[in-house]
Amino acid sequence: MESAEIARRFLRFFEERGHTVVPSASLVAEDPTLLLVPAGMVPFKPYFLGQRTPPASRLVSVQKCIRTPDIDEVGKTTRHATFFQMLGNFSFGDYFKAQAIPFAWELLTRSESDGGFGFPEERLWVTVYEDDDEAADIWHKTVGVPLDRIQRRGLADNYWHMGVPGPGGPCSEIYYDRGPEYGREGGPVADENRYLEVWNNVFMQFQLSAVRNKVDFDIAGELPSKNIDTGMGLERMAAILQGVDNIYEIDTTYKILDRAAELTRTKYGRDSRADVSLRVVADHTRAGVMLVADGVLPSNEGRGYVLRRILRRSIRNLRLLGAGEERYMHELTATTIDVMGELYPELRADAANIHTVIDAEETSFLGTLRTGTAIFDAAVEESKRKGAVTLGGDQAFQLHDTYGFPIDLTLEMAGEQGLKVDEEGFRRLMKEQRDRAKADAAAKKTGNADISVFSGMLEKAGRVDFLGYDHTTAEAN
Ligand code: ATP
Ligand code: MG
Ligand code: MG
Ligand code: MG
Repeated sequence: MESAEIARRFLRFFEERGHTVVPSASLVAEDPTLLLVPAGMVPFKPYFLGQRTPPASRLVSVQKCIRTPDIDEVGKTTRHATFFQMLGNFSFGDYFKAQAIPFAWELLTRSESDGGFGFPEERLWVTVYEDDDEAADIWHKTVGVPLDRIQRRGLADNYWHMGVPGPGGPCSEIYYDRGPEYGREGGPVADENRYLEVWNNVFMQFQLSAVRNKVDFDIAGELPSKNIDTGMGLERMAAILQGVDNIYEIDTTYKILDRAAELTRTKYGRDSRADVSLRVVADHTRAGVMLVADGVLPSNEGRGYVLRRILRRSIRNLRLLGAGEERYMHELTATTIDVMGELYPELRADAANIHTVIDAEETSFLGTLRTGTAIFDAAVEESKRKGAVTLGGDQAFQLHDTYGFPIDLTLEMAGEQGLKVDEEGFRRLMKEQRDRAKADAAAKKTGNADISVFSGMLEKAGRVDFLGYDHTTAEAN
């Protein structure tokens, strides 16, 4: 079943059950607490919080998502993309657990010829939040899932929130057993590679005030109504329904992967390191194109930095595949626009602009790589000669400061050489540089301006830059 058909089926199923179809919002979050949209519910947050009235009490959507925290998993696990699409049905004070759970089960198990996804019941496992007897009962008594395929988990796995203050609640997840060739038996608690999480049903019920991390937050009270928020991964469904090993091999993404293999004259499936690079190139090019299409431009901070990092990782993985001085992003962008254009026709209309942005980033980054790589190699050689296992903070700083090597690139390249990087030393030098810049600015004091106001701003800007990629979207689970 093609990706586009999976999306159509999901929408149709819920439309037939009284849901209004709403188009995906832009990846650029309107929500000021987020840079990019990591989940389908984000555009609906004001409805959950009772701040705005939803257009209908039941909605269904296919939302474009970006999850930067998953970037290091890409290509290594079978199931993490930076860009993916979340299919979701939503209820705002309308139905709750007793209806949402049977809806999910029905869609998954109904035969393909009858509009469903045709999953055999015995392949499905579910989890519920440890205290949620109500959900466990619905799964067991109403739906008929045997007790030994219902597992209970704690806050880390079965409680959903945005990673920032906002709505949240216990959740119930549905997993597909891919069989013994994928790992140990024993359900999702034992092995999340074999048991692939496909759908999360969140019982959005509470207002969270402070969120310190995934498992440490304050509940301020109940939301104005009890709501349903669900998220099903389109790419994961496609991997199962298309009988492929991982989400990089599904209809859309595989065409990009295959083109990358062709361009670099690499054979997919021969060498595990090259395979990871091919998956990264395919995933990141796709994410990059989708971000540019939503108006993001590469830059050194905020969402622009997320885009820059994603594109640069793609460009660099092409070097790992032996691209040398060749420029392949134009071709790969064209393939991406072509395959994603079926669901997102605006990509085709905007193709010229998307190419201009991505081509320019490739040109600039290849220049950075050309000068920086020689310096990097020399630094690595010196460290190895000294018998050191760590690249000095001063070397990482020089690479950043003089050659425009972002620290994450240095970290990655050092890692490939089996070296660590003295990150603390690097951060210290960065801070010293910022402090110097601040002192200089203060010394220059122009006009009557009170510089203290600006130093506060500088500090903030510095912090955004510094936190960079790993803090740009909420840790969402
Ligand atoms: P995992 O535990 O596998 O990382 P998650 O629990 O973080 O997934 P949720 O936040 O529950 O995921 O998101 C809802 C659904 O979105 C998941 O069940 C999955 O199908 C899909 N999904 C989540 N993260 C990704 C990703 N990085 N790439 C592709 N699909 C994803
Ligand atoms: Mg989940
Ligand atoms: Mg999970
Ligand atoms: Mg996750």
